[in-house]
Amino acid sequence: MLLKELREKVIEIALKAQREKLIPLTMGNFSARDRKTGYVCITPSGMEYDKLTAADIVVLDVEGSIAEGERKPSIEAPLHCAVYRRRKDVFGVSHTHSVFATAWASCNEGIPVVVAELAALIGGPVECAIYKPMGSLELAETAALRLKDRNAILLANHGVLAVGPDIGTAFANSVVVEEGAKIAYYARQIGVMRLIPEEECKSLRKGTMEKYGQK
Ligand SMILES: [Zn+2]
Repeated sequence: MLLKELREKVIEIALKAQREKLIPLTMGNFSARDRKTGYVCITPSGMEYDKLTAADIVVLDVEGSIAEGERKPSIEAPLHCAVYRRRKDVFGVSHTHSVFATAWASCNEGIPVVVAELAALIGGPVECAIYKPMGSLELAETAALRLKDRNAILLANHGVLAVGPDIGTAFANSVVVEEGAKIAYYARQIGVMRLIPEEECKSLRKGTMEKYGQK
């Protein structure tokens, strides 16, 4: 079997996203790109996560053609592949419908950068890509383009797309976006939000890229 370990990692993250309540039922999808072969391991369409085995994960090339796997890949496979084609630094993609972030997306409004984590880990405010139907090629292209060099974006009336240098970090970025969305929502109820200035966002981002995590 191709990329058994990476397939298992994808299942582990999908289950974690479910535990963290970032996705209702199976309304989300996750993928990881192998650094050596460039193949993408992605969750199958509409299968319950707690029943998944490595054989259910579909292996695609970056154009979206199936390299190995019996299952139908997630309907958002074109979205994942479009991101991998555009972003050479991305090796994990996490797409969720977490509630607070999707609420902002339902207003077609980005999440303002009110907490330092959004600046440091996502790269600034979480912008909202214009509405395109789920699973469409238009959604894939529009979202991948709008993502630019950031680590997350909202999909209007739909959900969140988060990316990272591995699938664990992409998932963690989904959590950062949901927390940021929740805090921004409450902040707006309390009073006038004070945004972190652009220059400070850049400095937080730079500092994180240089210092964060274990070497
Ligand atoms: Zn979706």
